[in-house]
Amino acid sequence: MQSDGEQTVRFGGSDPVDRPLGRSIKRGLTCRCPACGEGRLFRAFLKPVDHCSVCGEDISHHRADDLPAYLVIVVVGHVLMTGYMLTDMILRVSPWVHLAIWAPLAVLAAIATIQPIKGGVIGLQWANRMHGFGGGEDGTDSTSGPSNRPN
Ligand SMILES: [Zn+2]
Repeated sequence: MQSDGEQTVRFGGSDPVDRPLGRSIKRGLTCRCPACGEGRLFRAFLKPVDHCSVCGEDISHHRADDLPAYLVIVVVGHVLMTGYMLTDMILRVSPWVHLAIWAPLAVLAAIATIQPIKGGVIGLQWANRMHGFGGGEDGTDSTSGPSNRPN
């Protein structure tokens, strides 16, 4: 029994494909607004803008917190430890020479990667509609986790 005026009923608001996870993280990694990919994401080194200057998307809902720092430690730590161990196998130099090389490199690599990684985290939270990015309550406790967002 099909009626002529039959329509598909969709629950839970907008289509999830309008916020693809990979594209959102990629735009964040390039320090651009995850919604439009045009506006700048940061007004200072690690201070995100409140609203995108191009599309007006509210960025203030992000809760990146310590995750960018953890990710920088994981990424930079693995890359630099690999570099240290490989050069130690090839070049026989004193530990002080290694310290003089790798300690400044670690500082520079961390400074170079923390902003794009924070942008990626903001893109991830935006794509998953976390912490008020989905239009709900802008909480930081367990009530705003992904398991409680409308599906
Ligand atoms: Zn935008």
